[in-house]
Amino acid sequence: MRRLSRWAIRPPDVTALPPLPASPLRLRLDGDALAANWRALDTLSGAARAGAAVKADAYGLGAGQVVPVLAAAGCRDWFVAHWREVPDVIAHVPAAAIAVLHGPLTDADVAFAQATGVRPVLNSLAQARRWLAGGGGPCHVMVDTGISRLGLAMAELGDPLLGELDIDLCLSHLASADEDVPQNAQQLGRFATVRAAISARRYSLANSAGIALGADYHADLTRPGIALYGGVVRRELAGLVRRVAWPEAAVLQLRDLAAGDAVGYNATFVAQRAMRLAVVALGYADGYLRCWSNRGGFRHGPAHLPVVGRVSMDLTAIDVSAAPDLREGDWLTLDYDLPGAAAQSGLSQYELLTLLHRRFARNGV
Ligand SMILES: *Cc1c(COP(=O)(O)O)cnc(C)c1O
Repeated sequence: MRRLSRWAIRPPDVTALPPLPASPLRLRLDGDALAANWRALDTLSGAARAGAAVKADAYGLGAGQVVPVLAAAGCRDWFVAHWREVPDVIAHVPAAAIAVLHGPLTDADVAFAQATGVRPVLNSLAQARRWLAGGGGPCHVMVDTGISRLGLAMAELGDPLLGELDIDLCLSHLASADEDVPQNAQQLGRFATVRAAISARRYSLANSAGIALGADYHADLTRPGIALYGGVVRRELAGLVRRVAWPEAAVLQLRDLAAGDAVGYNATFVAQRAMRLAVVALGYADGYLRCWSNRGGFRHGPAHLPVVGRVSMDLTAIDVSAAPDLREGDWLTLDYDLPGAAAQSGLSQYELLTLLHRRFARNGV
């Protein structure tokens, strides 16, 4: 009790700590591949420009790293989901170029938009009313053409309130662009109705997969996300999209096992022969989920090194018998090519990226 009260009076001074040691986990971002992916998607978007979805901290890669690279490549339009994601982006690009997809839920959201110049995506008549009541000005409008998520209903297109808005971008979102299904053409047809009903400076329909559906889907602006970051969500994008994210983990400890030694929680792996094991500081708390137990892999130079035993919260064990020169402190590269890793794990390419936790240092930060 006594110690607690002393703490309350004089908390430890964290600013007096020495510089933090480097993380044993790092996420290397290939900036050239990122820029090349944006250019490829911009070209594939034909007469339309490509923007960038940078929500969820640029799909987990770090908006502070990603946005400057894409801005230098020529990207001019940015999409985040939450208002609280704005600071990561506004440091690098003009406020008016940032769209907040979730729109204004409260008057405080409207006030934030008005004060910063960031543009809301209005998703309902209620949001439109709130925006106008808070001063209005340039905004975007989302219409739901079949995903039943956010956006005005088709039946609301004739509402006179929409005529009072100063609409920069009118957008809709495809539900199944990664598949060849009739829903794509159906949404495209509804979007033509939307365009006839809503007067806006620009129109936008396609996400990454939608860009590959062809010129009919491009409108004025496309909104790629996952493909910028190395996701291959349609076969047309294979060969066009380069890998961007390279997770790496340092070896904390090497150990030699004898035949019969068990590895990890619940002994799901038992050595059949003498082997060398590396333990790295990567676990499910870092987004490397338990589905990778006895299934994932790492690379060290040309050697392929399989994960053995259960992935635990902060540690994973790897059979490094094929890399006899490996030392403690050396870095191993995780097998994390998105299409391949998704097929192997059953996780989506989106989940694989956004799972990666903040214990990863991102490009040295
Ligand atoms: C996330 C998102 C995108 C980007 O989608 P990808 O499939 O990652 O290309 C585009 N538009 C909206 C509205 C989104 O929510």
